[in-house]
Amino acid sequence: MKTTGYAAHDHQSPLVPYQFERRALRDNDVAIEILYCGVCHSDLHTTRNDWGFTQYPIVPGHEIVGRVIDTGAHAHRYQCGDLVAVGCLVDSCMECDQCRKGEEQLCREEVTETYAGEDRISGEVTQGGYARHIVVREEFVLRIPPGLDIASAGPLLCAGITTWSPLQTWGVTSGSRVAVIGLGGLGHMAVKLAAALGAHVTVISRTDNKRDDAMALGADALLVSSDDQAMAAAADSFDLIIDTVPVRHDLKPYVPLLDIDATLVLVGQLGPVEVIDTMPIVAGRRRIAGSPMGGIRETQQLLDFCAEHQVLPEVEMIRMDQINDAFARLEKADVRYRFVIDMSTLPDAAPAD
Ligand code: NAP
Ligand code: ZN
Repeated sequence: MKTTGYAAHDHQSPLVPYQFERRALRDNDVAIEILYCGVCHSDLHTTRNDWGFTQYPIVPGHEIVGRVIDTGAHAHRYQCGDLVAVGCLVDSCMECDQCRKGEEQLCREEVTETYAGEDRISGEVTQGGYARHIVVREEFVLRIPPGLDIASAGPLLCAGITTWSPLQTWGVTSGSRVAVIGLGGLGHMAVKLAAALGAHVTVISRTDNKRDDAMALGADALLVSSDDQAMAAAADSFDLIIDTVPVRHDLKPYVPLLDIDATLVLVGQLGPVEVIDTMPIVAGRRRIAGSPMGGIRETQQLLDFCAEHQVLPEVEMIRMDQINDAFARLEKADVRYRFVIDMSTLPDAAPAD
């Protein structure tokens, strides 16, 4: 199937219109017309080859909301016209212990990511949701529940599930003391979701500028990370800290904020962090952990939870041709709090590869 999208052709040029092929429907595939796609900081990292594995051209985008337009011969979960979503994962081995538990993101045979992954059958590089269409095997397609606003639901597919999963893993519930470092796309969803679970939520931000926003999103407090006195006063006060910072940074200031047996979970920047002092980790039986995305079943539970409790991302809707400005603003943390591309603004004709 021919489709159009926006692609990067190297690590420094802007994204440009791009025509490419989606695979012909396999028996268990669903073809989707994309209506909206969120803009994640990972799209920017991948476009810039920050992680060193990008193959060009690359079409980013893994916060996809759309409508089913065709189904494979043995794909029975969805019908044409259904509103559906696709997140960060499009395939896995489906047989290992992790896949059988519904933790496809931890697949022993390496999960296939929505873009910059390798198709398990053809070996082609997968291409993401800054496009008119996508073809995905049905087990990796999510259902948009009734009552969930499709124009703002997209960011739940990455920012939402990536913060929801650690909240579930570490058992956050009413009264849990949760801190969120970095109030961006992931951070604002972490605040909303933790607040919806009844937690006491503190935002840890670089400045005081987002205080009013943090409170409006459901936080109870804001801690400025450069305020040494306030940071010292917050020692031993959290059960879980979710770190969403997208750049290499020092973890030392955050570890002492954990209470005994509490966890600092890294979901942001992937790669080396500054050396940390092991003394407070050992002495306080504290933990430093990581968490990638979330499984398909857990993602569906999140969508259902958000429909029921009307927890929705804060979205700034953009046209497809505004994506390069949006990337520049994302780099400066100038987004409140997630860009979403209205895919009806994607031009039909685009130059061939
Ligand atoms: P984002 O919208 O750009 O938000 C990041 C926030 O971090 C900013 O709003 C800012 O908050 C803070 N920040 C930015 N630059 C900083 C700096 N130099 N030092 C300290 N804090 C800084 O990004 P996002 O989309 O939420 O993504 C965050 C990170 O998570 C990215 O690295 C992304 O690749 C990663 N990610 C991981 C997964 C996973 O599976 N684990 C999934 C999705 C994304 P303040 O202004 O409040 O300080
Ligand atoms: Zn993402």
